Amino acid sequence: MTVDDLPTRDLLNKNLESNRAQELEQLLKPAVDLIIDFVKKTDAGEQGIGPHFDNPRDLYKILDLDRLDELFKKPVKNGSSDSAEKMIATFRTILHNSVNTWHPGFMDKLYASSNAVGMLADLLLSVLNTNSHVFTVSPALTVIEQKVAQKYASLFGYNGAHAGGLTFNGGSWSNITSLQMARSLLFPETKLQGNVKRFAIYTSVHSHYSVEKAAILLGLGANAVFKIPVDEHGCMRVELLEPTIKTSIEKGYTPLYVNATAGTTVFGAFDPFIEISQICKKYHTWFHIDGSWGGNAIFSTKRKVALKGCELADSITSNPHKMLGVPTTCSFLLVPDARIFTQANSLGAPYLFHNIRDEGENFDLAKGTMGCGRRADALKFYLGWLYYGTSGYEQRVDHAYDVGEYFARQISKIKGFDLVSDIPPPCLQVCFYYNPTPDKKLSGEQLTRVTRFIARKLHTSGNFLTDFAPNPDDSVSGVDHGEFFRVVFNSPVVTATIIDELIASIQKFGKEFITSNEE
Ligand SMILES: *Cc1c(COP(=O)(O)O)cnc(C)c1O
Repeated sequence: MTVDDLPTRDLLNKNLESNRAQELEQLLKPAVDLIIDFVKKTDAGEQGIGPHFDNPRDLYKILDLDRLDELFKKPVKNGSSDSAEKMIATFRTILHNSVNTWHPGFMDKLYASSNAVGMLADLLLSVLNTNSHVFTVSPALTVIEQKVAQKYASLFGYNGAHAGGLTFNGGSWSNITSLQMARSLLFPETKLQGNVKRFAIYTSVHSHYSVEKAAILLGLGANAVFKIPVDEHGCMRVELLEPTIKTSIEKGYTPLYVNATAGTTVFGAFDPFIEISQICKKYHTWFHIDGSWGGNAIFSTKRKVALKGCELADSITSNPHKMLGVPTTCSFLLVPDARIFTQANSLGAPYLFHNIRDEGENFDLAKGTMGCGRRADALKFYLGWLYYGTSGYEQRVDHAYDVGEYFARQISKIKGFDLVSDIPPPCLQVCFYYNPTPDKKLSGEQLTRVTRFIARKLHTSGNFLTDFAPNPDDSVSGVDHGEFFRVVFNSPVVTATIIDELIASIQKFGKEFITSNEE
C-alpha cells in the first residue's frame, strides 16, 4: 500500500451510523407494538403455542435463510439492504415461527415466559451493552450483582459477612464452576500441577448430566463419577453413599466432591441434604447442591422445607431463569464466602482453603470466573425482585406448585392415567403415563407410541407444548417401561381451567390414537 492508497480525511470523517437515534425509533417502536399485540392475542386465545415442525429444513424456506447466501454472491453497495419495514417483517416471521412461551399451554421443560420487567431488563442490558468483567466498565451492574447475590445467598442460610455469589451462563456452568472451585480449594496444588490425584465425584443416578460433563471437562473423566442409586421417589439413597465412597477409595480414588440435587430434572426430587453433608464432612469432600431447578422453592414459606439443610453445602446453584420468569440465562452459584471465587479461579498463588487472604471486596467480578466477558444477568433478577417483591416471587412459586398438585390429584382419579410422580409432586413437574385402553395393559414400546402421538397432537392443536421422557431408571435396569409425559407447571398464567382442558385434550387425542391404530 502506498501513501496514495490511504483513505482520505474526508472519507474517514464519514460516520457509518449517523442516523442512530432515528434508526432506534424506526425499529424499536413498531417492534414494541408488535410484541404487545402478540401477547394481547395470546391472552385472548387468538395466538397459539407456535407451529410444529416435522422437518427443521422447512424453516429454511419459511425464514428465507438462503438470502444470506445471496448476500455473499452479490455484496450490496451503499449500506444496508433491508429497510426498517423489512426488518420488522423478519422480526414478525421469527416471532410467529417460534414457540410462544407466553402461551399458558407452554408446559415444556423447566421454564416459562418472561414478563414485562424481564423485557425491560434485557433491553437495558442491550442498551448498555457492557461487560461485567471489571468495575470500570460496569460500575452499577457490578454492585447490583454483588448485592443481589448476597441477598439471594442469605435466603439459603448463607449469612456470613462475605456470603454471596456470581452469575454464570446457566446452571450447567454454575455446576461445572463449583467442581473446579472444589478442586482448586481442597487441592491447591492442582492449579499448577493439574489432577495430581485420581479424583472421584459422587452424584445420584437422577442428577443432571452437567455433573458428568464437568468431570469430563476438568479431565477427571466420566469414569470418575460414581452414581448413587435413588429410592422410589427419585431421592439419592444416602445409605449407599458412604459404601460407594469406600469402594472408590479402595480402587485408588481420592474423594473430591458430592453433588446433591434440589429438584431433579425428570422427577423433581430433593436429595437428603443433612445426611449427605455429614458424610461429606467425614470424608472431607466438597458438598455442592444443584438447585438449578428446585432452588427457588426457597422463596416459598410452604415449600422451602424441601431445602432443609441447604446452608450446610459449600456451594449452591440456583437459576432464577427457570422458576421465576427471569429472562434466560440467569444462574447463580452461591457460596458462604464469596472471596473463594477469586481464590479458586484467579491465576494468583494457590492459597489454602482455610487460609483465605483478605484482599477486601473484589469489584472486578471476572477475577472470580474462568471466563472474561460476561453479560450482567443479575440485573434481570434484580429488577424482577424489585418489581414483584419477595412476596410476589413467593406467590409465583406457590401458584405453580399448587397447580401441579391440582393436576396430579385430578388425573389420579381418572382411569387410564398412571402417575409416576408422587402426590403431592415434589416440584413443578408431573410425570405420568396415559393408556387410552385402560383395560388392556400396554408394553413399554406401546406406551412410548401413545405418549409421542398425544404430545404431537397437543402441539399441532396449537394449545399445549408438553415434554416426555424415558424413565431414567430404564438405562440402569435395561428394562423399557416406555416414555412418559413430563408436564411442567411453571407459568403464573396457568389456571385450573387450563389444567382441565389439558386433561380433556389428552383423553381426546388418546381416543384418536386408538382410531388411527385401527385403520
Ligand atoms: C436445568 C438444570 C440444569 C442446567 O441448567 P441450565 O441453566 O439449563 O444449564 C442443571 N441441573 C438441573 C437439576 C436442572 O434442572
